Amino acid sequence: AEAPAATRPGGRKLVVIDPGHGGIDPGAIGTRKTREKDVVLAYGLALKEVLEASGAVDVMMTRSDDRFLTLKERVRFARDNQADLFIAIHADTVRGPEARGATIYTLSEKASDAEAEALAHKENRADIIAGVHLENESEAVTDILIDLVQRESKTHALVFARKAVSEMKPVTAFTGKPMRSAGFMVLKAPDVPSVLVELGYLSSRDDEMQLTSPEWRKRVATAMGRAVETYFAQQLAARAE
Ligand code: ZN
Repeated sequence: AEAPAATRPGGRKLVVIDPGHGGIDPGAIGTRKTREKDVVLAYGLALKEVLEASGAVDVMMTRSDDRFLTLKERVRFARDNQADLFIAIHADTVRGPEARGATIYTLSEKASDAEAEALAHKENRADIIAGVHLENESEAVTDILIDLVQRESKTHALVFARKAVSEMKPVTAFTGKPMRSAGFMVLKAPDVPSVLVELGYLSSRDDEMQLTSPEWRKRVATAMGRAVETYFAQQLAARAE
């Protein structure tokens, strides 16, 4: 069994922001050669700034510069630091310039649809790039206690995802299905509520322009920051009842 997470100083909550890709792994490449690893880092840093300015939570980043991390290292970082919320940041590409908008993913053992599964497969490839072969983690996650913890984490992740969608919707476009689930490796910390945000499509000219705009970044990060604040505020209120 896992040791219960220690309370951080002053009972403060810790958010770990995980900008995807980095270093030798550029991630998706936009129509105007925008690299996913750059725009997700810029967004992650903007979100960190918003959250730190609010003073409501502590913030750590898996990477704050252009370096490569395996998916396992990202998950381990969140777990070692006993994160209360893990937010992975990505941007997708698809064939064709029409698809646009954001999507927020939570973990599923079984992907909600083929498109979501294909994307998870694409993102999970990062570990193979580094020469680290993926292991089937589901074998290890058989212990009933871990299963229970994971279920609770998933429930919390869904609550946060819902809040994030409703705060972000007024300031940026979403896909037709704003919340999806898929088997992303990076969402598999059993004891950390985790979401993966695809901010938009680098294959869309409009999305690519947004993703490189500091104003858009700030607006969306501010909305997501509000979702983080209300998520933890409601958790505290529920506990006090
Ligand atoms: Zn990605």
